[in-house]
Amino acid sequence: MTEIAGRTALVTGGGSGIGMGLAKELARQGAKVAVADIMPDNAEKVVAAIRESGGKAMAVECDVCERASIAAMKDKVTAELGPVHLLFANAGASSFDPLVEMSDDDVDWILQVNLHGVMNTTRAFLPDMIAAREGHVCATASMAGLLPGWIPVHAPYSAAKAGIIGLMMNLALELAQHNVFTTSYCPGGVATGMKDNNARYRPARFGGPGETELHVGEASENAKSMAFYTPDAIAPMVLDAVRNNRAFVFDHPEHR
Ligand code: NAD
Repeated sequence: MTEIAGRTALVTGGGSGIGMGLAKELARQGAKVAVADIMPDNAEKVVAAIRESGGKAMAVECDVCERASIAAMKDKVTAELGPVHLLFANAGASSFDPLVEMSDDDVDWILQVNLHGVMNTTRAFLPDMIAAREGHVCATASMAGLLPGWIPVHAPYSAAKAGIIGLMMNLALELAQHNVFTTSYCPGGVATGMKDNNARYRPARFGGPGETELHVGEASENAKSMAFYTPDAIAPMVLDAVRNNRAFVFDHPEHR
């Protein structure tokens, strides 16, 4: 079993959507929570809500596309909350454009934020978990990575999410000897702003933020129509899978 109460948890992309739901539920279950996000104001709002409910949390800015940003974030979190036991590598963004119509920058960004972001964040925190002989990495993949093609016109995103599943499964074998566990969480449709936000998170080196309206913590009608769950409903299910060291958790009702 993986303990949650009293442990230090880090959620990347914790300023909105699924990450926000996970951060609040982790705090509710007694973890100390670091909320990391490329949008620090949103992370601060989540932390304020957790503190109002009596939980312990800190906000920290981080771009998971940049190793230096992850390293600086790790130093701040470890100094304030101690070594991280539970890593939720959740930050991500999607693109629904046909591959041939995507710019090189957008292809690179989708792979960086979804796959390299998880890889780099995981690599940064594993040494402490191995040294402590305690840890769990839960990466947010997608049904688009488990069943590539179930949403058409999603190629680099599907490739990145399938990569996360491969990464987590291999790590499960590599890390068992160290008492460190992994879970791939594969959302099917959670009511968040993701589909509307997309390019708003694009870092400067991939072309900078787009102009679309930002949905933080609240899904648009479009997103709600495609969703099966809310972040608040899904978070206890994900934490239950982590507690029980399950390798996968899905939230698509047709694939349970
Ligand atoms: P969201 O847009 O509400 O949240 C994404 C969060 O990630 C935001 O807070 C954003 O600021 C942050 N972020 C983006 N780029 C970042 C970067 N470079 N560094 C750090 N933080 C960054 O969307 P969501 O639906 O909550 O998405 C969370 C995860 O769930 C993503 O990995 C996404 O691919 C995955 N997912 C979501 C669904 C769904 O239906 N909502 C389905 C499958 C997978």
